[in-house]
Amino acid sequence: MTVPPHVMRELQDILGPEAVLSQPEELITYSYDATWAEGIPDVVVNPTTTEQVAAVLRIADRERIPVVPRGAGTGLAGASVPQGGIVLNLARMNRLREISPEDMVAVVEPGVVNQTLQEALQPYGLMYPPDPASLYMSTIGGNVATNAGGPRCLKYGVTKDYVMGLEVVLPGGQVLRTGGRQIKNVTGYNLTQLFVGSEGTLGVITEITLRLIPAPAARATVMAAYARLEDAAETVNAILSEGILPLTTELMDQACIRAVERKLQMGLPTEAEALMLIAVDGEPEAVHAQIRRVAEVCRRMGADPVEMATTPEEEERLWIARRSVSPALALIKPSRLTEDIVVPRSKIPAMIRRIQAIAREYDVMIPTFGHIGDGNVHPDIMCDRRDPEEMRRVALAAQAVFEATIELGGTLSGEHGIGLLKREFLPKELGPLAIEKMLAIKKVFDPNGIMNPGKVFPKEMEIGE
Ligand SMILES: Cc1cc2nc3c(=O)[nH]c(=O)nc-3n(C[C@H](O)[C@H](O)[C@H](O)COP(=O)(O)OP(=O)(O)OC[C@H]3O[C@@H](n4cnc5c(N)ncnc54)[C@H](O)[C@@H]3O)c2cc1C
Repeated sequence: MTVPPHVMRELQDILGPEAVLSQPEELITYSYDATWAEGIPDVVVNPTTTEQVAAVLRIADRERIPVVPRGAGTGLAGASVPQGGIVLNLARMNRLREISPEDMVAVVEPGVVNQTLQEALQPYGLMYPPDPASLYMSTIGGNVATNAGGPRCLKYGVTKDYVMGLEVVLPGGQVLRTGGRQIKNVTGYNLTQLFVGSEGTLGVITEITLRLIPAPAARATVMAAYARLEDAAETVNAILSEGILPLTTELMDQACIRAVERKLQMGLPTEAEALMLIAVDGEPEAVHAQIRRVAEVCRRMGADPVEMATTPEEEERLWIARRSVSPALALIKPSRLTEDIVVPRSKIPAMIRRIQAIAREYDVMIPTFGHIGDGNVHPDIMCDRRDPEEMRRVALAAQAVFEATIELGGTLSGEHGIGLLKREFLPKELGPLAIEKMLAIKKVFDPNGIMNPGKVFPKEMEIGE
């Protein structure tokens, strides 16, 4: 027990007894994320104001108690999984403070669910582009802390491109405001971006000012099947060189196509090596013209069949295949290790071939899908955690995937973060100097190492180790 009784009493005084959870059945609810990492906290607190967050961090820093900020717990890197200490659950700080059509900004508390914001913006004709596939569950605070991406990133960028200002509570309880609501702002260092993707290791984000854009009026999608994976990958550049910037360029490999077809029996081409879903958005006339050109490019690159969807109903039918990848893979094996690698776009075919070779070498199944316009793919290493011999091969295969990624000039994580699960690989990609500087930054904000310890940095490098 790292939280002594007098601290429990203080927490109850600040937050009210109902907002401090310590029963085993309550704690277990906050002991995992969307990976298989697990760890029980000593206590969970549910603040509703910045002042309460500040009071909790003052006590935690004084007592050197670890604090793990938590949004919805949908993370895919173990980053919100505690190892004792306090889980600071931001889900109840979920007020949408302001939508300003004039300034085209939204000001939100961290616990606002992404989809709630998307829906609130519709009457204003505005859009917040970052759309992680978890948008129905994940919070804006979690999205900012992981710099979440989504299918629309190729055209619109990732979360960092929309964060204009933050309110952050630092260990010790000071409240820092960064950035603002100005499109241009070069006054001083960019502290806002330092917190984006910091995975709860520097402070607790309690308010976020987001940039918005006008919502496009129309959208259309092409689904194209390819006998050769390389042709699918090359299609992205062929479309770009036509002067068209697609909204999404999603790829499913043959293992994914077969898994979805087994589940849905919707007539997918199971002999194809790759299936692409390419969408465009904008003004209706431009969208109709562009989607026809996209279909032509796909055919020219060898795709057959090529299907086009221009109404929401037709689009829904095509996108169901992509959205069903995860549930379909879940029918193959009880568990999977979802990776999140990124390579330069030109290296996608080589990367996928390497993944296929690694799957053969370690005798594991690795269906791969992803956002290939961004060079970001998710190889899912299928496994059964009850089989230690298989898990040994899974660990070796994961290591081989990371090594291949770095060899091809890539990065370990495009959108899920490093968290607990990838921290030991950090030095391989970043090298000692970059890590030394990052640790120095961590020490400036969190000198006692209470913020989400055990995450991002390899164990032996942590503050206090
Ligand atoms: C089905 C599914 C699909 C997914 N698809 C995508 C996708 O397309 N793109 C993508 O990028 N990710 C995706 N993810 C991963 C996950 O949803 C994202 O990482 C998301 O941003 C996490 O948000 P969350 O609210 O669940 O945060 P949590 O998982 O609770 O926390 C994630 C990290 O953020 C920190 N944190 C949370 N809130 C705060 C705060 N207020 N202040 C400081 N730190 C904080 C936590 O400490 C932790 O380090 C997916 C996950 C699932 C389960």
